Amino acid sequence: MKMMKAARLHKVGEPMRIENLPVPEPASNDVLVRVRACGIVPNLGNILTNWQTWFPELPLPPLPAIFGLDPAGEIVAVGSHVHTWSPGDRVYVNPGRYCGGCRACRNGDLVHCALYTFNGYFGFSPDSWKIYQNYPYGGLCEYMTAPQYALVKLPDNVTFEQGARFGYLGTMYSALRKSRVAPGKTLLVNGISGTLGIGGALFGLAMGANRIFGTGRNQELLDKVKALSPGRIEVLSIEGDETIDKWVKRRTGGLGVDVFVDALGPGAKHETMLQGVRALKRGGRAVNIGAIAGPVGLDLHTMMDEGQGIEGSIWFNAGEGQDMADMAAAGTVDLSIFEHVSHPLDEVNDAISGIAIRNGGFSNFVITP
Ligand SMILES: [Zn+2]
Repeated sequence: MKMMKAARLHKVGEPMRIENLPVPEPASNDVLVRVRACGIVPNLGNILTNWQTWFPELPLPPLPAIFGLDPAGEIVAVGSHVHTWSPGDRVYVNPGRYCGGCRACRNGDLVHCALYTFNGYFGFSPDSWKIYQNYPYGGLCEYMTAPQYALVKLPDNVTFEQGARFGYLGTMYSALRKSRVAPGKTLLVNGISGTLGIGGALFGLAMGANRIFGTGRNQELLDKVKALSPGRIEVLSIEGDETIDKWVKRRTGGLGVDVFVDALGPGAKHETMLQGVRALKRGGRAVNIGAIAGPVGLDLHTMMDEGQGIEGSIWFNAGEGQDMADMAAAGTVDLSIFEHVSHPLDEVNDAISGIAIRNGGFSNFVITP
């Protein structure tokens, strides 16, 4: 039996153990991927230590479990019902798993599947354990099985390390698509220098937004974001005196922005999000993909009068991931801005605990199994 190295969590709060496990066989609609890089994000530490207390309704995979949200690698074997993919294909594996049989799935509304589950991370349904039975391998191991519907073909100019960043980038890309960011539009992103927010700069530019307003705390990182396109990006530190809405209105002739995306991290103040909503123009759209927690006091009457909307957006599908890969292939989005911090699988525990020391969203932490 062929064996592989895997990092497994046996108990919440304990370090992962490096173990030898049999290399799995792909089922008929699945492929086997040799993992070359797996993204680890700042939230992973929370998932491994605090998740069951913070969000008991979002279940972890049954332990012991192989975590790892954002894997990229090469296909080495395909199941009998796989016709589109071949061994040797370089892929990103979207961790979003859906059942295929519920009403949402049958309507093609895949992210809203009743059993929707993040492979190697956490689930959104009490029945997510059923999905984990089908897909017990996250990206923190050498070989994982994945359904063919989850794959994104990576072009030659996208490295595995860059591919391992697709999860948080795709979350932003899907939010920008839903809010119809396009040429002629203006965009505001809260938390633009963070892991999630920086995708707003990259894809906002690629999708043609005329002007992108970004807020954050660290002026040095904000200046680095502005340098991506000094003529189209403007930045504001929320540590200063001016509120976000006043700043945006002043710079848009009093109008405000077409689209506001909130990508703030855990523990951020509600007021920062509310200022973003107040920066919308008449008819504008707000999308929340960040980590603001608890009830937020929105002025819904004013939003009605102004014809404004707000929605939550969760993750993205593999088709959207393919758009992103194709944009990278065409050179319309620049993934070379990331500074990779790579660790071998043996160092996974140190890598996760060291993730707080980072250069904002420019840092890309990966494990290379
Ligand atoms: Zn479903």
